[in-house]
Amino acid sequence: MRKRLVAGNWKMNTDMNSGYLLLKDLLSEIKEDDLKSCDVHVYAPFTHLKVFHNSLNGSGIVLGAQNCHHKDSGAYTGEVSAEMLASVPVQSVLVGHSERREYCNETNEILAEKVTVALRNGLDVIYCFGETLEQREGGDHFAVVETQIKNGLGHLNAEDWSKVTIAYEPVWAIGTGKTASAEQAQEIHKHARTLIKQIANETVANNTRILYGGSVKPGNASELFGMADIDGGLIGGAALDANSFAGIIRA
Ligand code: PEP
Repeated sequence: MRKRLVAGNWKMNTDMNSGYLLLKDLLSEIKEDDLKSCDVHVYAPFTHLKVFHNSLNGSGIVLGAQNCHHKDSGAYTGEVSAEMLASVPVQSVLVGHSERREYCNETNEILAEKVTVALRNGLDVIYCFGETLEQREGGDHFAVVETQIKNGLGHLNAEDWSKVTIAYEPVWAIGTGKTASAEQAQEIHKHARTLIKQIANETVANNTRILYGGSVKPGNASELFGMADIDGGLIGGAALDANSFAGIIRA
């Protein structure tokens, strides 16, 4: 049985002060009972991580970062390594968000290195994948996600997979208000699970959580999360409102 997971990706939003207030709101909205049936992660900006670690201590909410560099250390000015994140400590890191694939030219091969370096430093990973509108309209969506999963995660062994969650985020649904229908999401999630079975094995495929991301709101979360292969959500905009985020967790 896969436990549900709802993860909030704050992106480049909030300063230290407003971020702290939002975190406090979240802590008062999310009740102990909510965490019995659903894991909750918060992926905050780098600047917030140390303070958030202290505030989240004992709350049961997992703290994550939104990116790490693919090399261990060295002359990469302005970058943050997996080792640095682990020393905060944070528990998890997002890898391969479509905004980083698009704006920072992150390829599947670089992302594969990021996954490796994150796991080596004891971090859990949420690996994001998903097609653009053009790719979907061209009928290429199954092939695109297959390449993203195989080239980004094809090198993992069964033990690695126990630390990895994947998140299907169709680019056309992120921050656009357009959600994939529950059926559209389910068919890609099912395909992704079959790919994990091919890469690893059936047990790994059955145990791996596959999140959906793309304009999830309290009003559409139940239908999406009710599908057989959708194990929760990666939430952008709605994670910046404590009430909406809690509504999605309860869905
Ligand atoms: C995201 O950025 O991962 C995301 C899913 O954003 P939104 O929920 O705003 O579409």
